[in-house]
Order: sequence, then C-alpha cells, then structure tokens
Amino acid sequence: MQPTHTSADRGRAALGPALELVHTGAAPTRSALTSALGVTRATAGAVTCELEALNLITVDSRPAGGTRGRPSHRLAVDPSGPVVLAAQIHADGFTVALATLGGALGPHRDFPLPVPASPERVLHAVVTEAAALIAADPRRCVGLGLAVPTPVALPDRTAVAAMYLDWPSGTPVGDLLEQQVAAAGLSVAVDVANDANLAALAEHRHGAGRGSRHLLYITSGHRGVGGALVVEGKLHTGSAGLALEVGQLTVDPDGRLCPCGNRGCLDVEADPPALLAAAGREVDPARPLLDQTRDVLADAAAGDARARGAVEHVTDRLGLGIAGVINILNPDRVVLGAFHSALLVAAPDRLARVVAERSYWGRSGQIPIAPAVLERSELAGAAELAWAPVLADPLGVLGG
Ligand SMILES: [Zn+2]
Repeated sequence: MQPTHTSADRGRAALGPALELVHTGAAPTRSALTSALGVTRATAGAVTCELEALNLITVDSRPAGGTRGRPSHRLAVDPSGPVVLAAQIHADGFTVALATLGGALGPHRDFPLPVPASPERVLHAVVTEAAALIAADPRRCVGLGLAVPTPVALPDRTAVAAMYLDWPSGTPVGDLLEQQVAAAGLSVAVDVANDANLAALAEHRHGAGRGSRHLLYITSGHRGVGGALVVEGKLHTGSAGLALEVGQLTVDPDGRLCPCGNRGCLDVEADPPALLAAAGREVDPARPLLDQTRDVLADAAAGDARARGAVEHVTDRLGLGIAGVINILNPDRVVLGAFHSALLVAAPDRLARVVAERSYWGRSGQIPIAPAVLERSELAGAAELAWAPVLADPLGVLGG
C-alpha cells in the first residue's frame, strides 16, 4: 500500500474505465481514450501499457487516420487475451459459448434441458458443458456468467417467479451455480442475472442501445415478456434486483390468463403464444416458439388476413405496455429484442402510432424505437456479467 496517492494509483483507478472504453469501441485510439478519461497523455500512455501487459488490449503504434491532427496509437482488444464463459438457460434448452472482450462471442453450443424442473440437474449440465469448452481452449478463462429466464433477487441471487422454468420460487441459483463450479474444479468468478437485464446491457454496450443515456429494453424470446433499463451505462436494478418486470403490466383486464393469476398481463398478451393464439394456431411443443411466430409474420406479410389481424392485435398490446413504461421512465431510446424486434419490423408504423397515442412523452415519435441488433443478446449479456470484475479492477483480477 502506498502512503500517498501517486500517479501510479491514479493510473490503476483508470484501468477499468479505460478497458471499458476499448471494450465498447468508444476509444479506438489513445487520443480518444485520453479525452474520454480526462487524463494527461502520459497517464493514458501508462494505462494502455498496463492493459497491454495484462494481455487485455493491443496498442498499434503505427499512426491511425489521415493527416489531420496528431497521429494516435490504435487500440483494440487482444484476441489472444483472456476469455469468459457465457451461458444462457432458456425454455428450449441451454447454450454456452466463450467470449473475448469487445463483445464477440465464439461458436455457441446448444443442449436440451435435463429434468427442466430440477435447478441442480440443469446447473450441473450447464457447468459440465462450460468446463468442457474452457478445457478445450488455450486461453485463460477468468469468469462465468449465466443468464436465466427469471427475475433474480439481490443480494442473495435467488430465482423468484421462475414461472417458465418450473423452478421453486426462491431457488438460490447463485449459490447452486457456485457449488457446481467448485465441484467441477473451475476457479473462475461466477455470477447469474436475469436474461432481459443482461440482453439490455449487451445492446447498450455493443448494439442498438449504444450512446443512449436511458435505454428501455423490452423483449420476449419464448414465453413471457422481460424488460430492463440501463441508466448512464448501469443496469437499474431497483431495491432488490426486481425492477422493470414489465411482464406483469396489465394491458387488457379481460385478456388471457397469466401464470401469475391475473388476466391480460403483458407477459401473456405480447409473447409468442399470444400471437399464435390470435392467429388461431396451436402451439407445437416440438418447435421453438420463435420459429412458429416467424411463420405467422411471413403469412401476414404475404397477405393472410387472419395472420395480419393477429400481428396488429399483439402489436397494439405491446404498444400499450411500452407507452405505459415510457410515461413512467422517460427513456431516450427503446430497443426491442427477439419476438418484439420481429413485430417492430413487421409493423413499424402501427407500433409507433400506438406508442405515440398512449404515451405523453412519446408523442410525435421523439423516442426512437429500434430493433435489437446483436445475434444473441442474452448470451452476449452473460459475457458482460462475467467481465464485470475484470472491468472493475483489471489488475486485481489478472495481475496476481
Ligand atoms: Zn401476470
């Protein structure tokens, strides 16, 4: 411990913020990093040297850009540097992939859920496949992040209302995951969070939410509707991690029955089964729900009147929900994921009109509504969760 604050201390404090700027692509050069951090060129130089020594970034000293201004070193994440393991549990199975800094996911592997109603069995399978992927890669793995389709209460990391997984409410998913990771002999930091929250974080850092200050994210991938708010780059968690559970907003008091016991929640009025029901189609349990919604959207685009009516009905319900949330939260951008992104593409004018009619702040379309752009936002978000300790203190995690 240094007795006084030296420039080295200031440099260490800047390592995390600097790494995040390179990680998100916000600082492609050292001069961009210098101005974004508000530090001297000497400090920025020391910080980039340190991050390069930790194998986190590369510094290319050949001048970037044209002839205007002072040439600056180019910064990029180091592709041979450490990786994290991203995992996602969803209604159709689970997925694992390795991820580098910069938001890039390696090839992902999909597996069915063994005994879906048993959290222990499911988490054991996830960790077994994760360990195999880590063992097969020469790079150092420094964290494991898991996205789950249930609210996760903080600080205990318990899954509450895991309605679509049939897990007991209050399942200590964080502790169970840590036990499985320890039993597998992995020494990596572990964390778990709600899938919609993580997708929002990934879209904010690497996707359609980049640059927004108050990003509202709403999505539906299988059953139910998830939401999240990213404020100034940080997830808004509420007092216990349960903020933005927009699925339980009532958008039709006489609507479809929800697993929560109420009728007409956004969860059951604007998810894939809602579209299939409105189109008069049975859910095929053997096929992913998103694929089945794509059939309805394609039929609607081809002129099928019943399919088009279903798309409009569900778009209107979604619009009511979005408008209600906009009125309360005053976001500067709305990003829609998965099924909702497809609905937006299918009926952009209708969704914008419903939101404008029902939302005081959304009038005249001042709040852009955009589709998510990342291929697998939830999995990318699980990687962001795994990177969190490194981004907070790169030297603390990697320097030992
Ligand atoms: Zn409900």
